[in-house]
Amino acid sequence: MKNLAENWDVVVVGAGIAGCMTAGTIALKGKGNVSVLLMDRNPPTEAGKKTVLGWVCGDAVGEHHIKYIHEHIGTTYGKPEMENRVTAVYVYSPDMKVRVPFEGPGYVLDRPKFAKRLLDDALKAGVEFRGNVQATELIQDNGTIVGLHGQTVGPGVNQPFEIRSKLIIDTSGMSTKLRRNLPIPSHIEKEINKDDVEPTARLNAKLRD
Ligand SMILES: Cc1cc2nc3c(=O)[nH]c(=O)nc-3n(C[C@H](O)[C@H](O)[C@H](O)COP(=O)(O)OP(=O)(O)OC[C@H]3O[C@@H](n4cnc5c(N)ncnc54)[C@H](O)[C@@H]3O)c2cc1C
Repeated sequence: MKNLAENWDVVVVGAGIAGCMTAGTIALKGKGNVSVLLMDRNPPTEAGKKTVLGWVCGDAVGEHHIKYIHEHIGTTYGKPEMENRVTAVYVYSPDMKVRVPFEGPGYVLDRPKFAKRLLDDALKAGVEFRGNVQATELIQDNGTIVGLHGQTVGPGVNQPFEIRSKLIIDTSGMSTKLRRNLPIPSHIEKEINKDDVEPTARLNAKLRD
């Protein structure tokens, strides 16, 4: 359980889709017996928003994923975070010559509202959320990760802090510094091979009608 010396059972770094789901599920299954801290460098209203690109990602999802979540943790999504049901998604190459179909039902999400729903569900499950804090490095002791250093992010002077935890889960995205600077030997891939990355872009247009 949590005590005043900032010792946690679980600390989850990054409150995007992965972080909110992970922290919320642990708290839910822990039934009040596991203290979970979720932190993000963004403020609570923007947890999950990309720093440079904004709300560009994760706004379409297959129905089978939504069913999986419902069956495994009992969550039902609906309006307002699920905007429209679609029967397929087609992805076009920039010259429009190649069309890749993703057939099967799914939903187009209102991405900021979906992020809020994920964070609200995690909070309801008992997660403590801290926004405007950035994890900067992991602390190791005898080859085991035992905590992290971080700093507040904001208009004032950034305040450093240290947190200890039995388990740290890094869900801070694909270009995370924590993984790249992992201070212990590990099988974890520190740098993602560029050949494994498929960059995409999205244009959201607001039509008058
Ligand atoms: C253009 C584009 C379109 C996409 N479209 C879709 C789609 O339609 N459907 C779909 O399912 N997926 C889509 N994706 C993929 C999807 O966006 C990612 O798979 C998803 O966002 C990954 O979630 P995540 O939680 O792992 O990381 P992220 O969403 O990147 O979240 C990471 C979080 O960690 C925080 N963070 C980072 N570093 C730190 C730190 N040091 N300390 C504290 N906090 C930190 C960030 O502020 C952020 O909130 C798309 C991606 C792109 C680029």
